[in-house]
Amino acid sequence: SSFRGGAGRFAPSPTGDLHLGNLRTAILAHAWAKATGRRCLLRVEDIDRVRSGSTERQLEQLQQLGLRYDAAPLIQTTRTEAHHRAIETLRSRGFLFECYCSRKDIQEAASAPHTPPGHYPGTCLHLSEEELAQKRELFAQQGRQPALRLNVPEKEWTIFDELHGDYTGPVDNVVIRRNDGAVAYNLAVVVDDAYQGIDQVTRGDDLLSQAPTQAAIAHALGLAEPVYVHVPLALNQEGQRLSKRDGAVTLPDLQEQGIEVPQVVNLIARSLDLGPQVDACQSVTDLLQVLDESTLRRMPLHPWVWDGQI
Ligand code: GLU
Repeated sequence: SSFRGGAGRFAPSPTGDLHLGNLRTAILAHAWAKATGRRCLLRVEDIDRVRSGSTERQLEQLQQLGLRYDAAPLIQTTRTEAHHRAIETLRSRGFLFECYCSRKDIQEAASAPHTPPGHYPGTCLHLSEEELAQKRELFAQQGRQPALRLNVPEKEWTIFDELHGDYTGPVDNVVIRRNDGAVAYNLAVVVDDAYQGIDQVTRGDDLLSQAPTQAAIAHALGLAEPVYVHVPLALNQEGQRLSKRDGAVTLPDLQEQGIEVPQVVNLIARSLDLGPQVDACQSVTDLLQVLDESTLRRMPLHPWVWDGQI
């Protein structure tokens, strides 16, 4: 379809080889971008938990699968200065607070009522001047610094998702700068999506609950909010997220077993549950031809449970 502007993206973390679930998300990100007249871009989210050599391997695997991006990949670690500028902007607007909590403090406090599961319980938001001064001094003595967390006026935010529609969720007091000084994922993802001109964020639906917080961060920085496409995850038969434990789940492992790219693409095509035309696809080119907007919209929201068969 013709170019209408904007861009979609795939943003893997280089923590190991891409598995079938990641490859499926990569293909869907491409399909959604192309079907809606967008470019498709790639970003390597290498600010955390990087496995050495993994970036090169992932890029090679996407290439082998037949995915071609419209620009060179953006490497997230090249963006550190911009991330820190954004942190300063948030701080100067009064949208950050210092957090002195340990992991254990948070776990203990998180069982309090009114804290959504997995969210920050708010301990350091409600410190008195005196308590804050004490904590500052203790940390200074120990040569440690606090984490910086988000605190915007909005407690809830509504995002738009092509598959889930309007989705409203709480805005979490997420870490923006870690206590080791490193930039946190939720800040980097928002700043870099905007920098790359991305107005459509396609990714696994495990991140749907984070989207309202991320959109609120974009708003707090004066950046445009993207449209989201949260696609279902791939699970094993026990209902857990697909992983290395499940045997040959990456392209190199599958190839070692004699399973070639067309078979892998076809497995992913059939996993989409979108009818015979899609089921017949053996290449990314075929898939991008049949996956038009109305077909993509019919995609079921339930996870893909893979039975291990090709
Ligand atoms: N890099 C994240 C991951 O691989 C995805 C972030 C995103 O798509 O927003 O889990």
